[in-house]
Amino acid sequence: MEQNIPYKIYLEEQEMPKQWYNVRADMKKKPAPILDPETLKPVTLEELSGIFCTELAKQELDDTTPYFDIPEEIQNFYKMYRPSPLVRAYCLEKKLDTPAHIYYKFEGNNTSGSHKLNSAIAQAYYAKQQGLKGVTTETGAGQWGTALSMACAYLDLDCQVYMVKCSYEQKPFRREVMRTYGAKVTPSPSMNTKIGQKINEQFPGTTGSLGCAISEAVEAAVTQYGYRYVLGSVLSQVLLHQSVIGLEAKTALDKYGIKADTIIGCAGGGSNLGGLISPFAGEILRGEANYDIIAVEPSSCPSLTRGVYAYDFCDTGKVCPLAKMYTLGSGFIPSANHAGGLRYHGMSSVVSELYDQGILTARSAEQTAVFQAAQIFAKVEGILPAPESSHAIKVAMDEAIKCKETGEAKNIVFGLTGTGYFDMVAYQKFNDGQMSDYVPTDEELAKALGELPKVEV
Ligand SMILES: *Cc1c(COP(=O)(O)O)cnc(C)c1O
Repeated sequence: MEQNIPYKIYLEEQEMPKQWYNVRADMKKKPAPILDPETLKPVTLEELSGIFCTELAKQELDDTTPYFDIPEEIQNFYKMYRPSPLVRAYCLEKKLDTPAHIYYKFEGNNTSGSHKLNSAIAQAYYAKQQGLKGVTTETGAGQWGTALSMACAYLDLDCQVYMVKCSYEQKPFRREVMRTYGAKVTPSPSMNTKIGQKINEQFPGTTGSLGCAISEAVEAAVTQYGYRYVLGSVLSQVLLHQSVIGLEAKTALDKYGIKADTIIGCAGGGSNLGGLISPFAGEILRGEANYDIIAVEPSSCPSLTRGVYAYDFCDTGKVCPLAKMYTLGSGFIPSANHAGGLRYHGMSSVVSELYDQGILTARSAEQTAVFQAAQIFAKVEGILPAPESSHAIKVAMDEAIKCKETGEAKNIVFGLTGTGYFDMVAYQKFNDGQMSDYVPTDEELAKALGELPKVEV
């Protein structure tokens, strides 16, 4: 007999987490330390505090403290759009005719439209606490910039966003949302920074890349008094903040006596995946439970499935610390026809290390199949998903279809990270039948991988 499980498993406000969980504390083998790009020595708190707010730099370097209190002001901000619902996808199950039970944790229920606000408010909060004037950042598709501009508006902080030029031009509405919240948005590469000038000179007419926008934003932070740089993914501090997703999901599942079998997340820089899986991975690491955890990335930017585990630059300009991660090389730029987001060349060092230890597996998906899954999901579940999130939908559907063959009633949980209203150019391509799949050849991958920094470890 199946229990009577509602469509939406809400938590009460008082059931929301009051602490973030740092999965590194439960890892016997820790992620490798980040290194100074010049000396190749582990970065100290003092050095890191020149780029990040001091409190965030502390979080970045702390791999032993399991729980961090969520400051009350952040808890209150979270209450405006959290707890986020865990939804039983009854209609999708019916559509797929599967015995599996599918659940998704929906993070798109705020104006920025994604999970990124969970970390944006935390980072803005610590900047404010430190008495800073403002923060600088980069944004690719625009979700992070939007989230950060909302958080900065709330706390009355200045927000400067370097937006990858092709997105700046293709996504004018994202740009205008940021400006409405008071952010200053500059197309990158710009002529405002030395690195931007250099890149423009080297590659005239370039439409930019995330790695390049990062370099610009870092330069802007360190050259203006009272500013620090913030980043929306990849970093361990971001995974820490995003653990709110996994903690809520776990509390909700426990509340209804549901044990997840399979947990699936899309992976760009690894922040939503890392946040969703953290408490579950912690149980695996402590030997308390087992889960089948799957990261899904695009076939056109396959850092986990085809990259190497090595120290690499986090940005094109090579100003940021080096991180050991699964990477395609900081010079890797996904094919121009790739429309589905998740285009960063590397992967969070925490997710990379968990993957290396076999705590999670990874798969890649081609974009046409991802959009097909997105369309089915939109039709039956009502939510128009972000292309990024749809990578997780695709694999959740694959897994549910497998259950049909084996007759297993597995509990599949996936992260639905956001909505796709600003991705209509990509959907238009799909609807017009103009979307193609591009999978880089081994030779193409070898090129950027050949330029990895040489680090003795
Ligand atoms: C940014 C983003 C992602 C990918 O980033 P991660 O750090 O890998 O989570 C996924 N989905 C949405 C909706 C996003 O905005």
